Amino acid sequence: MKDNNCIFCKIANGDIPSRTIYENEKFRVILDNGPATDGHALVLPKEHFANLFEIPQDWAAEAMETAKTVAEMLRDKLGADGLNVVQNNGEAAGQTVNHFHMHIIPRYKGDGQTILWKPGHPSDAELDEVCRRILD
Ligand code: 5GP
Ligand code: ZN
Repeated sequence: MKDNNCIFCKIANGDIPSRTIYENEKFRVILDNGPATDGHALVLPKEHFANLFEIPQDWAAEAMETAKTVAEMLRDKLGADGLNVVQNNGEAAGQTVNHFHMHIIPRYKGDGQTILWKPGHPSDAELDEVCRRILD
């Protein structure tokens, strides 16, 4: 299903032009227009799924296969030294477009980007408690 009000549905299906760097039956991969680095790309499914919670398992698996293909392409063509895969879900996690997408971000030594988090320092007991809550 497509969502008529969704910009990524329109881009993924070619109704709005984009800088497409890879395409297969289920996905279009485009350059992000606000890139963190040269080659920052977005993997977009051609069907509308809001986020990781809504995308079916088989589509999620194919999204990662597509990401791997594009990651190798960006490494080889742009000479990336490393690469981040980022995938935001929900406003609390920084998602701004509610159509599932994966960010493929080539990294270059000294590129000045910081796609990192501030590490916490929980005690063993606190880690054990979180583990218990998840496994209960
Ligand atoms: P999010 O914050 O939802 O994970 O990421 C949305 C991303 O989509 C942002 O990096 C933003 O730059 C990119 N973006 C938003 N609208 C457009 C668009 O119309 N075209 C392209 N190429 N990228 C977009
Ligand atoms: Zn959509």
